[in-house]
Amino acid sequence: MYPAETACRSAAADGAVAELLAARRVPLGGVRGIEVDRVLPQRTLPTVGAWCFLDSFDSAAGGMRVLPHPHIGLQTVTWTFAGRIRHRDSLGSDVVIRPGQLDLMTAGRGIAHSEFSTGDPGGLHGLQLWVALPAGDAAIAPGFEQHTELPTGTTDGIHARVLVGSLAGVTSPATTYTPLVGAQLDVPDGTVAELPLRPDFEHAVLVIDGTLEVAGTTVTTGPLLYLGTGRDTLALSSPGGATAMLIGGEPPGDDLVIWWNFVGRNHEEIVAARADWEGRTGRFGRVAGHGDARIPAPRLPNLRLTARRRGGATPGRSG
Ligand code: MN
Repeated sequence: MYPAETACRSAAADGAVAELLAARRVPLGGVRGIEVDRVLPQRTLPTVGAWCFLDSFDSAAGGMRVLPHPHIGLQTVTWTFAGRIRHRDSLGSDVVIRPGQLDLMTAGRGIAHSEFSTGDPGGLHGLQLWVALPAGDAAIAPGFEQHTELPTGTTDGIHARVLVGSLAGVTSPATTYTPLVGAQLDVPDGTVAELPLRPDFEHAVLVIDGTLEVAGTTVTTGPLLYLGTGRDTLALSSPGGATAMLIGGEPPGDDLVIWWNFVGRNHEEIVAARADWEGRTGRFGRVAGHGDARIPAPRLPNLRLTARRRGGATPGRSG
């Protein structure tokens, strides 16, 4: 099975909505790799702000063994709840991420990396998200940063650990290129709260643990709740306590083409990036420690991308 190219045409936001979007299970990193539950992109919703991928993984579905592979045009955000992941990249980074720490890799014009779980007895549970870089920054030099401590704000009883952007009165030190927010929300037992939001952002919530009432909708683990724009506050309550991820940002200002591990603006950029990876041109550098092992690019589809609007008016498959 080869990934289709996904053209993500930006569309005006609809105002406040509450739409549950189901996850789908996707193998990652080949047959020895882990399976992930993907909630972004969706057929009807390619992005939330600049967030264009959201995968959750759990060691119940296997350890993470993702050999070197390339990226362009995006940032990867790795965040774990249990277990550790070793990250190595073509800039020479070699770090282990632990729960509560943030790995943020900026691909820009090109980077390669590998990710392996360290086999912790308690298993592995976490998220990986992608942020699309805006057109003007899509070809910047690659970078990697690890943040071992992130600020936590408390508002109306909700604890928000802020990975990127600002929420609950605190701001993450992580480097971003578009107005964006990403935060882990810890909602204690019996909380009934209103979380202030930026009304110009669109938002979505993924429950990690427990059951959360979000703007009148009951959410448990699995689907993504898309909330649209135009909310000054978000009603959150949880009789038994819950943990969730909130993502949001300004609705995208330009169209994206997402194929395999690449985010671009047109078909030609994707074709060129694929050719550079397969041709070992040096654009992506080399990840030390894996010999010649790497993930080959899949075949490109035999068709040019077709623009895809929010709402899924045009048939197509996300990859
Ligand atoms: Mn990757």
